[in-house]
Amino acid sequence: MDTFFNILTRGVHFVRNNPQIIYTIFLVIVIPLAFFLTSEQFLRVAREDQNRLERSRIGVLQDVFALFAKWNLDDTKFLHDRVRVVAHETDTMTNFQVLGTEDGESFPILVSMNGEEEGTMLTPDPHTLSLLRTAMAHPAQSVSSEVFNGGVRYWRSARAITATTSNTAVGYVFTELSMAQGDYVARRNIFDAYMTLLLIILLIILLLIRQARIIDYATLYQRLKDIDSMKDDFVSMAAHELRSPLTTIRGYIDMIRSEKLSKKAEEYLKDIDSSALRLNLMIGDILDVAKLQAGRMSFNLQSVDVSEDIAAVIDSFQKLAKDKGLLLSFDRRTLPLIAVDTDRFRQIMINLVGNAVKYTSKGEVHVTAEAIRDDVTIRISDTGAGISAEDQGKLFQKFFRVRNEETERVTGTGLGLWITNQMVKAMKGTIMVESIRGKGTDFVVSFPVTENKK
Ligand code: ADP
Repeated sequence: MDTFFNILTRGVHFVRNNPQIIYTIFLVIVIPLAFFLTSEQFLRVAREDQNRLERSRIGVLQDVFALFAKWNLDDTKFLHDRVRVVAHETDTMTNFQVLGTEDGESFPILVSMNGEEEGTMLTPDPHTLSLLRTAMAHPAQSVSSEVFNGGVRYWRSARAITATTSNTAVGYVFTELSMAQGDYVARRNIFDAYMTLLLIILLIILLLIRQARIIDYATLYQRLKDIDSMKDDFVSMAAHELRSPLTTIRGYIDMIRSEKLSKKAEEYLKDIDSSALRLNLMIGDILDVAKLQAGRMSFNLQSVDVSEDIAAVIDSFQKLAKDKGLLLSFDRRTLPLIAVDTDRFRQIMINLVGNAVKYTSKGEVHVTAEAIRDDVTIRISDTGAGISAEDQGKLFQKFFRVRNEETERVTGTGLGLWITNQMVKAMKGTIMVESIRGKGTDFVVSFPVTENKK
């Protein structure tokens, strides 16, 4: 009992965790059942229609024949010919007789489609007897009933022939129609329907086999997602934890700098400082990635003229550019307002201008910002090594770095452009790259101009 209850609880739990099961049950039960019921209903209606049609057809035939026999009951030869003609035209007819009145549960066969019977007595089975008696009781109509004989369905019908002067029965028109043909067609339809049903069930089983695999994949996908989010949480926590000791180190670097140091010690300190700075930037990138992925990065959008922010970023890179012998210039002009978070916008510019300076060994880095149609478009052009068309396609992927002689010596994480792209998109902007290997690279960032222009 206990184990049964356990199995039941486990089953309920499993179904709750795998909603696909409901879908599966739907596939297995509901679809074939619906198909089965529809086929059954269709065949039932078809069969009823066929019965109704046959009955009314034979009713009309008997009515006409009874009227006609009423005047010619004595001319059996004439009636015989008529019976033969009708029987010949109706290929499902198995019996067609004109009978005289009942004589102790027997009836004289006046005319028959089967000539030899004529003149003999018919002792009908109880079913036919009751049919003939009902026909006698209701002389103005044809009565029918269904009988099974040797696995075949027949319609037996009788109609009283009344006297010319009164309404009393003087004989009967009796017919029997075989339904074998119609039933054969119906049976074949049923067979075809069942075959189709079988095919559907087979298809569903195949689908289920696939479905079972999809359930496996879904479980695996969920597990991977859990692991991925655990990894993100871990990375973000570790980055946070790394940041505090780093802040302490950088604080001490500043303090030591104010001390009197030997030339060598000053050089060592400079190295320590630049490494600490790099580490700090890297941690910043990792934290930004974690925030963007978790959708936790906030954007405080404000309508601003970004020319000032661009100029500030350019200024901050002037010393580095000068040290590398590069010309760094910005074509400053007043711009229409765009809705951006200025801190994030500066971060985007730092990444793009920083990369341009970082990956250019000679020549210049030139920045322009202008209103083009409904956008403010900022173009950062450099005369660096350029990026091949193949690499351009992967540039905005996480951790992607171009690997060649020029980039080998340059340190980086491959996260900057991924972060930049995500931030641009979050502020409804677009970013594109145009580059020719050996000539240089242009990064083009656009943001839509807001309504209230200056
Ligand atoms: P990182 O600079 O940390 O490697 P990014 O995501 O900023 O990462 O850049 C990805 C890669 O794109 C870089 O490794 C570099 O190879 C290439 N790249 C980016 N900007 C430029 C540029 N202006 N010129 C040439 N290559 C570039």
